[in-house]
Amino acid sequence: MFDWLIVGAGFAGSVLAERIASQRGERVLLIDKRAHIGGNAYDRHDEAGVLIHQYGPHIFHTNSEAIFSYLSKFTRWRPYEHRVLAKVDGMLLPIPINLDTVNKLFGLSLDSEGLAAWFAARAEKREEIKSSEDVVVATVGRELYEKFFKGYTKKQWGVEPSQLDKSVTARVPTRVNRDDRYFTDSHQYMPTDGYTRMFERMLDHPNIKIMLQTDFEEIRNEVDYRRLIYTGPIDEFFEFRFGKLPYRSLQFKHVTLDRPWLQPVAVVNYPQTEAYTRVTEYKHLTGQRHEKTSVTFEYPCDSGDPYYPVPRAENMELYKRYEKLALAQKDVWFVGRLATYRYYNMDQVVGQALASFRRICAEVAPPKNRALASAVAAE
Ligand code: FAD
Ligand code: UDP
Repeated sequence: MFDWLIVGAGFAGSVLAERIASQRGERVLLIDKRAHIGGNAYDRHDEAGVLIHQYGPHIFHTNSEAIFSYLSKFTRWRPYEHRVLAKVDGMLLPIPINLDTVNKLFGLSLDSEGLAAWFAARAEKREEIKSSEDVVVATVGRELYEKFFKGYTKKQWGVEPSQLDKSVTARVPTRVNRDDRYFTDSHQYMPTDGYTRMFERMLDHPNIKIMLQTDFEEIRNEVDYRRLIYTGPIDEFFEFRFGKLPYRSLQFKHVTLDRPWLQPVAVVNYPQTEAYTRVTEYKHLTGQRHEKTSVTFEYPCDSGDPYYPVPRAENMELYKRYEKLALAQKDVWFVGRLATYRYYNMDQVVGQALASFRRICAEVAPPKNRALASAVAAE
C-alpha cells in the first residue's frame, strides 16, 4: 500500500515526491510513461558524448531565492546568461529587440533616447492590449512585428498572433538599451551535472519507488494507494469529457556535427525562413568541451507529446470546466504545466509544487507513526 501515487516524474511530480517522502515520511510510488525521469527537462549524453536536452533547450532562471535554494539541495550550478540571435533579413540580430537590433537592421546610430522616440513614432495605438499581435505592434510597430514575431509565432503555435493571448509574446520584452540577455532574473544558471543528475539526487530516497514506462491507465486500478497527485494533461484524466484541450507539440531533430561549433550563441531563432523555429547548440549552455557539437532543430506541430498549453480565451474556458471537475475530486491534486494548463517555466512549476505541498500539509495530517513532525513544522 502506497500513501501517494504520483503520475509524472517531471518537476511537478518529482518535487512533490521528494517533499512528501523526506518531510512527511510517507511512501510514494512515482510513475512516468516515458523511459526516464525529469519530464521535459530530461538531458542525456548522445552517441558522441555531448550532453543534449532531449526536449529542447532548458535554461534555469528565477527571481525566487526560495526556489533557487530548494533546488540547490540537489545540484551545483554553472552561471549562464542566455543570449539569442534571430536570423532576420539575412543578418543575425539580438532578440529581445534592443538598441543594437534596430541600429544594425536599419543602419542607424540611435542612442537609447533616440530609439524610444523611434519606437514611439511607429507604435500602433491600441485601446486595449489583448492579443500577442497587440503587445508587439503597440510597442515597436508593425515592421519589426512582421520581421521578428509574426512568422515565428505562426510557426510555433499554428495560429495568427492576433488569435493568441498577449501573455505569449509578452514573454519577450523590448529594450532601448544594449542589454542582449534573454532573461533578466536575479538567478540564471545551468545545473552543473545536468538536469537528469539533479532529478536522480532529488528522488534518491528509500520512501520513493519509481516505475518508468508505466501509463497511469495501466495501473490506476492495479495499485493500492491512498492519495493521488496527477501532473499529466488534465483533459486526459477526465477522458476528454468536454473535448480535447489543445496542446502544441514539437518534433525535435537532434544532429551531431563533425566540427567544434555551429553558431555564435546557444539559440538562433528563425522568424522569416525555415520550417523549424530555432536551433540550439548545447555546448554554449553546458560549458562542455568536445571536438564535435550537437544541435537540435525544433519543428512545431499539432499532434505528438503535449508540450505547450495554448493560451487563448476559448481554451481557458474549456480548461476552467475541467478545473471545476478537478477541484471536486477527493484526495487528488493536479499540479504542473499540463495538469493546470499553464504556460509555466521550470521555476514556476517548482513554486507551484512547493505551494501544493504546503496545502497538502495543511489539509492532510501525516500518518502518526511516520510523521517527521518537526520537519513539517519547519516548512
Ligand atoms: P512535464 O515535464 O511535462 O512532466 C510531466 C510528466 O508526466 C511527463 O514526463 C509525462 O511523460 C508524464 N505523464 C503524462 N501523462 C502521464 C500518464 N498518463 N501516465 C504516466 N506518466 C504521464 N522552462 C524554463 O524554465 N526554461 C526553459 O528554457 C524552458 N525551455 C523549454 C523548452 C521547451 C521546448 C519546452 C517544451 C518547455 C520548456 N520549459 C522551460 C518549460 C519546462 O519544460 C516546464 O516548465 C517543466 O518541465 C514542466 O514540468 P511538469 O512536471 O509540469 O511537466
Ligand atoms: N517569439 C517570436 N519570435 C522570437 C522569439 C519569440 O515571435 O524570436 C514569440 C513566439 O510566439 C514564442 C513566444 O514569443 O512562442 C515566447 O517565446 P519564448 O522564447 O519564451 O518561447 P519558449 O522558450 O517557451 O518556447
